[in-house]
Amino acid sequence: MDNNIFVTSPLLPPLEEFIPYLEKIWQNRILTNGGTFHQQLEDALAEYLGVKYVCLFANGTLALLTALQALRITGEVITTPYSFVATSHTLLWNGLTPVFADIDPLTYNINPERVEELITPQTTAIMPVHCYGVPCDVDKIQQVADVYGLKVLYDAAHAFGVKKNGVSILNHGDLSVLSFHATKVFNTFEGGAIICHDARTKQRIDYLKNFGFAGETRVVAPGINAKMNEVEAAFGLLQLKHIDQALAERQALYQHYLKLLDGVAGLSLLDVPDDVSWNHAYCPVLIEPEFGISRNALYDAMKSEGILTRRYFYPLISSFSMYRGFATSQKEHLPCANEIAEKVLCLPIYPGLEREDQQRIVDVIRRMARSVANNVAMISAGGL
Ligand SMILES: *Cc1c(COP(=O)(O)O)cnc(C)c1O
Repeated sequence: MDNNIFVTSPLLPPLEEFIPYLEKIWQNRILTNGGTFHQQLEDALAEYLGVKYVCLFANGTLALLTALQALRITGEVITTPYSFVATSHTLLWNGLTPVFADIDPLTYNINPERVEELITPQTTAIMPVHCYGVPCDVDKIQQVADVYGLKVLYDAAHAFGVKKNGVSILNHGDLSVLSFHATKVFNTFEGGAIICHDARTKQRIDYLKNFGFAGETRVVAPGINAKMNEVEAAFGLLQLKHIDQALAERQALYQHYLKLLDGVAGLSLLDVPDDVSWNHAYCPVLIEPEFGISRNALYDAMKSEGILTRRYFYPLISSFSMYRGFATSQKEHLPCANEIAEKVLCLPIYPGLEREDQQRIVDVIRRMARSVANNVAMISAGGL
């Protein structure tokens, strides 16, 4: 069905704008291993994002894996169950033990108070996620980390371009990791980056992503191959020219949703603080009991009308079979995360989504809410 509306659609500049970049690559015959475009994109992103150093990666998952290696994390890592599964998978791939802490009911991000309660002698790090691009409580998390001597690694896969009080959110913690996957706000088809704050750490990360090579004949670590290639880096440079427009479009779409959804009972939208300049990466809506039908029923109803919403993040990571056995994976330890995972529905939002599409989406939501209201009225009038 070409009438379907998907939850997202990748940002793709006009093809003809990309051809000159490809011609340069064919001329240079340098395809990877830190070519010109790779260097240029690292510099351009550092400037655009307002951070010190950017280390480009083939994808966000390899960047997370490598960031954990770079910080030499061991033992237990306290993290959020309310995320994409890659967050915790990278802990298991490093032989680390994930410890799931419950989330804050307003931001859906890890709750620093719950983090503190879960610290043991084996804890070496906290791995929070800026979920949907909304910043974590970075100050409280750093306070806890400082008191207990823990590292902080942010999974910032959703947080491209997000600022708090005019400063990039990526400057917090020891390291932050971005994803440039096709579905993210800024994409290089596949790609990712580690953000770090000093040149020595960048050097070490650059060794780790290239087999541990520190020169032609010297290997200093059991590194991996996680390099971004020149085609992806060139595409990133082109994307950067379009990103401000894309972010503005996302904001306008989000504002339009707020207007269209105004007055529908039983929907809760994110409450993003005024001091945050958000990227509108997602449009999560909580379907509360007052809405009348369940989140899953609304999801199915929309799907049957060709509107393919997603239940990010349901199921919780802690509910997947390989995570169920960990100490705090059970429901009673994670009440907020479980509640939100049962209620959340992410509506389509991406540059190029039309106003008529948004109207069609909200029409279905309103129709479902109204049909419930009618049934309730009929029941109370003795009609059913
Ligand atoms: C997308 C995503 C990742 C993984 O990034 P890839 O580039 O797809 O490997 C990790 N964490 C979160 C929260 C994500 O959304």
